[in-house]
Amino acid sequence: MEKKLEELKQQLQKQCMINQELQRQNKDLEQRLQEKERLLQELNGQYDELGVPSQSGNVVEPEIRKSRAAVIASEPLPETLEIRKRVKKVASETSLIVKAIQKNDFLSRLDDEQTAMMVDLLAVSSYKPNDDVIKEGTEGDSMYIVAAGELLVTQAGQTLRSLTTGDVFGELAILYNCRRTATVKAKTAVRLWCMERQTYRTIITNKSKKKREQLLGFLKTSRTLKELNDVQLSKIIDSMEEVKYQDKDVIVREGAEANAFYIILKGEVLVTKNVNGHQKQIRRMGKGEHFGEQALIREVLRTATCSAEGPVTCLSIDKEVFEETIPIEHLELFDDSKVLQEAEASEKSSPGSTLRFKDLVPVLYQEGRYQGDPVTLGVGGFGRVELVTTVNHEEYYAMKRVSKKHIVAKRQEEHMLFEKKILKATQCNFIVSLHAAFKDTRYIYMVMEFCVGGEIWTKLKEVGRFDEPIAMFCTACVVEAYAYLHKKNIMYRDLKPENLMLDIKGYVKLVDFGFSKEMVHGDKTYSFVGTPEYMAPEIIKNQGHDFAVDFWSLGVLIYELLVGSPPFSSSEPQKIYAKILDGVLKYPPYMSEAARSIISKMCRPRPGQRLGNTKNGIRDVRNHRWFSSMNWHKLRVGQLDAPTVRLIRKGPCYINFDRFPLDQTKAEEEFSGWDRDF
Ligand code: ATP
Ligand code: MG
Repeated sequence: MEKKLEELKQQLQKQCMINQELQRQNKDLEQRLQEKERLLQELNGQYDELGVPSQSGNVVEPEIRKSRAAVIASEPLPETLEIRKRVKKVASETSLIVKAIQKNDFLSRLDDEQTAMMVDLLAVSSYKPNDDVIKEGTEGDSMYIVAAGELLVTQAGQTLRSLTTGDVFGELAILYNCRRTATVKAKTAVRLWCMERQTYRTIITNKSKKKREQLLGFLKTSRTLKELNDVQLSKIIDSMEEVKYQDKDVIVREGAEANAFYIILKGEVLVTKNVNGHQKQIRRMGKGEHFGEQALIREVLRTATCSAEGPVTCLSIDKEVFEETIPIEHLELFDDSKVLQEAEASEKSSPGSTLRFKDLVPVLYQEGRYQGDPVTLGVGGFGRVELVTTVNHEEYYAMKRVSKKHIVAKRQEEHMLFEKKILKATQCNFIVSLHAAFKDTRYIYMVMEFCVGGEIWTKLKEVGRFDEPIAMFCTACVVEAYAYLHKKNIMYRDLKPENLMLDIKGYVKLVDFGFSKEMVHGDKTYSFVGTPEYMAPEIIKNQGHDFAVDFWSLGVLIYELLVGSPPFSSSEPQKIYAKILDGVLKYPPYMSEAARSIISKMCRPRPGQRLGNTKNGIRDVRNHRWFSSMNWHKLRVGQLDAPTVRLIRKGPCYINFDRFPLDQTKAEEEFSGWDRDF
């Protein structure tokens, strides 16, 4: 026995030694492999530096993008993570529940949105006569609304009362884990609407979280408050009070002493100024906009009158309360009379609603193979954009026409309505302006400012790639458009050369807001949307995305402008996605170090580390050394000579556009009514 044991022991020792030897060899091999890989990388690097045109796909070889990028439109999905299945209710059931909620002391404090969610998420349950629904002394986790039938409430064997249709019971249990103080028993067969605490709490916390985040976003657009951190802003929100106004109520009066700051939560506020004895309308403000911020930090008189247009709800904070909340020494002073003047000027220059559909006539090709046909400026995934003019040929416009049937088929109703809403609400030199919108039974139409210089895409294809000053100028225009949009809580989400147009001065403007989305800073959205080559990794991974995706795509744009092709490209979308997730950027030797730096900082896989999305936001982008020669102020006011003018050709007004044959098809009529508010 002992001998056998000794033998086994020896065998074991031998095995151990063999194992150790194998491990050592393995390590050796691993080290050698790593060394080989390092060497290979070095060689690749040297090869790149030499700038030798490559033959294999492994080395720098930007596949030239020949075709326009395809777009992927998200379909409407519930954006908030819905906790539970919704239970469909007919109108009479909804009204019964709403009435029950309204007459209950505790539930009546829910706001409209919370009530609606509650109605949606109440589940149904049925009991036979004599069934106990809740039992005295047990722990409760649900509340109930009686849909039909009769129940008895008893306590220590004593009948207290009966419950019938529309009565609410057990509601304390949705607040906290408490013991039932009574028993409720079905007297007849009953049908109940019930809700668990978990569901209820999620409704409430979601709502308040959202509201808070939204307010935070609103506060952050204030120039005076923008230096404050979230904790300080949060404190301000805690100190603010809701105030309601009726139509025509004056909220602040020009010339009066200013002592409070307001954010609009609901409704529209009209800003007017006394000009030679007349009240002149300066602008309108809506949800999320604020006024009176100067009142918080200095002694001023109101420079304009703000009054309610219809019912308005504001959140307001008094100067005294504000001073208690926040140390004001660090806040920036600025003169908002300038803002008002700017708004005034741009309003004058827009012809506004005077444009009538019947006054617009198509512009026709003057020569070439399409001579006599209407000029088409572009064809996108959804629409066709045609060149139109007023009867006297004074003004030219680009008119986007989209088939309503097509929109419904692709479930793009929301996107379309939003695109119009945004374009209507924006006044920015770097975003195409909308002059009018029309609809008929087949199409919706958007009449936009005509960007005579054509698409950046076309120019890029003509010259192959842009030199750095041109690329830098184009990018700077996009940065300004982003600054404007992001401040208004709008993500653009469809950056690409096809959506950038040149105006007559060579300034770049964003067009196509079909994918943009309004979202408060701090929120995430989960839709799969964009153009594959330009999609950020978090969209592909479905991790939820936010404003940071716009900076990723800005990095991709800079690359494409400088190289002629995007950094992650392939003819198969799957391969594009794989490349984006790998995130390997390869720069051609002619690209400057500053350009490489800005691209790699914007195309960081983690949204939180991306240039533009870190602590100083878009300011960090403006301050990057690639932009060192940019005069941002001159750019903003349009006083910079654009290097892009030399890309614009002279000739007939459509000379800077590709030509498109006549579209002879006529869209089918569509009557579902989704475009009621268009
Ligand atoms: P996409 O497929 O990109 O979603 P879309 O159908 O939404 O496209 P747009 O991108 O808005 O349409 O427009 C299509 C094309 O029409 C543009 O790429 C551009 O060539 C041209 N275009 C759009 N707006 C204007 C404008 N304001 N001035 C001149 N041309 C324009
Ligand atoms: Mg487009």
